[in-house]
Amino acid sequence: MKSLWNSAEAAKFSGPLGPRVYTSRLLGRDKSLVLHGGGNTSVKLSEKNLFGERGEVLYVKGSGWDLETIEAAGFSPVKLDYVRRLASLRALSDPRMVNELASHTLQAGAPAPSVETLLHAILPYKYADHTHADAVLSISNAPDGARRMRDIYGDRVVVIPYVMAGFDLAAYCAREFPRRRKKNTVGMVLLSHGIFSFAASARESYELMIELVSMAERYLKSKKAWTIGLPPAAQRGFEREEVARLRHDASKAAGFPLLCRSHPTPRFLGFARHPAVARLSQSGPATPDHVIWTKPLPMLGRDVEAFSSSYRKYFGRNSKKTREPKTMLDPAPRMALDRDLGLAAFGLTARETGIVADIYDHTIDVILRAEALGGWTALDERHTFDIEYWDLEQAKLKKTDKPPAFTGEVVVVTGAASGIGKACAESFLKRGAAVVGLDRNPAIEDLWQRPDFLGLVCDLTKEKEIAAVVDRAVKQFGGVDMLVLNAGIFPASQSVQDIGSDMWRKAMTVNVEANLLVMQACHGLLKLAPRGGRIVVIGSKNVPAPGPGAAAYSASKAAMNQLARVTALEWGKNGIRINTIHPNAVYDTALWTDALLASRAKAYKLSVEAYKKNNLLKTEVTSRDVAELAAEMCGPLFAKTTAAQVPVDGGNERVV
Ligand SMILES: [Zn+2]
Repeated sequence: MKSLWNSAEAAKFSGPLGPRVYTSRLLGRDKSLVLHGGGNTSVKLSEKNLFGERGEVLYVKGSGWDLETIEAAGFSPVKLDYVRRLASLRALSDPRMVNELASHTLQAGAPAPSVETLLHAILPYKYADHTHADAVLSISNAPDGARRMRDIYGDRVVVIPYVMAGFDLAAYCAREFPRRRKKNTVGMVLLSHGIFSFAASARESYELMIELVSMAERYLKSKKAWTIGLPPAAQRGFEREEVARLRHDASKAAGFPLLCRSHPTPRFLGFARHPAVARLSQSGPATPDHVIWTKPLPMLGRDVEAFSSSYRKYFGRNSKKTREPKTMLDPAPRMALDRDLGLAAFGLTARETGIVADIYDHTIDVILRAEALGGWTALDERHTFDIEYWDLEQAKLKKTDKPPAFTGEVVVVTGAASGIGKACAESFLKRGAAVVGLDRNPAIEDLWQRPDFLGLVCDLTKEKEIAAVVDRAVKQFGGVDMLVLNAGIFPASQSVQDIGSDMWRKAMTVNVEANLLVMQACHGLLKLAPRGGRIVVIGSKNVPAPGPGAAAYSASKAAMNQLARVTALEWGKNGIRINTIHPNAVYDTALWTDALLASRAKAYKLSVEAYKKNNLLKTEVTSRDVAELAAEMCGPLFAKTTAAQVPVDGGNERVV
């Protein structure tokens, strides 16, 4: 591990917190040090209050901030002398500690100080850096972990046995650290948890962290426990309905829809097929911290019922021994190790499934290296339970704010690169869905850089391309719950006697057959949607009220309308509902240039403004209006409705 310190880069971080922000980010850049909100850093500064009185202020990472992207505002200033005294109390509950921290924060609106604040407060150094380094965890979870740490570091670090983070750990360290520290002490190892480094300057503290972790890495290398190969594992063909079934079962166990991301990579497949996977994976997490995301153990294989029943037993066993009554979390797995899927990660959001996979990716290293040192042993389940059911975590369950309506669900939107399709993608993202946007236009791939959006190029008239993108969607999110059939073409105006067979066929292929192919590819997935499958067809006013010169378009849209009605008849038994929206005169799409609008308005002897509102309600219909209705049609409001056709046209005389 190398120091990433760069003086030119460091100089850009000014102000009293500048160096603290910079080296915190450097730690955050290395995933083998900290993962997703893990780790924390602090600095102690002497500051004057409004009366000119000097006092020491501890700036410590606030919760909700990631080291990699932290800013000065991500550090909470707390009154150091008071907070330090707290660690000398005989006992203090963690909720009470959180209250004391919040009420001794010196800036309104600052984030909640880390639950490890007291630990930073008791260390008599200006800068303190704390990570959950993989290499340290491997050694710590091998036989004789404490002795090995002493062999590696001598007096340079104080080794602390495992104590749960929060008040108990801080109080323990407040007693033990001053007693055990030596002149050359520059760090502290917390067994099965992580490591601290500290110094008078940000750079020194950071570089000590790199040095201490490098020593652990060198130790592993010297014991031939650094690079551990996994048996080669060939990837089997991807069966999307198997994955959707697994996600369906996990969602059922959870009581709400979960996303599922599969990773059939050589590494995860190799670990899932490791001869000792049952022992290695079922002993516990690399550090109890991870359970908040991953639950204590991965599921082996796909038997969700067996996993849930064993989770209930784990809760029953451990909740009996707690002081406070505990509320059981859902018993669904958050990860599965499977011989064919590799790792399947479950979560409410795409961000969560990403975190779970990252954590397990690092856990595999920690496990295999500890195993090479003589045997991987995780902390016993009691410690894991204490973190998973920590009062502070349980308090979060009481928060009443509901997650967005489509949390944990997946929608596929066709023609999503622009216009109504793009607006639909936005409406579903806003409601918490993971969105797969399909389009012929390559711009779809970069439409948004966010974990809950997957943009894929696809020619929807080609069955093979559809199969490939649906597979990708299922690999990424675990299934398809909703389908918005929006892609379509509007051929140039032609009278019936002039229509070429090419144009006619093209309209039928894109506006009807492509939708049939997409629905067919998704049928098995929609059947397995935890809340039932939903399809929304973006139809047209031309279905009830065709226009002269638009025979191919009107006929194709009418054929699609009939296909939707038959689909409602046939797929109702599968719990799939299909409804149609008939928009009219949506002018904020790429189809309508200013020049075209002006010429159409002129033809009707209207101003552009009046032309846009040429309907019964004298209102303009936008892509967003159509998209919002499409999203609502997939929600609970329309839960009992199928085969409906709803106009969104401001009112049209010919339709009424
Ligand atoms: Zn920690």
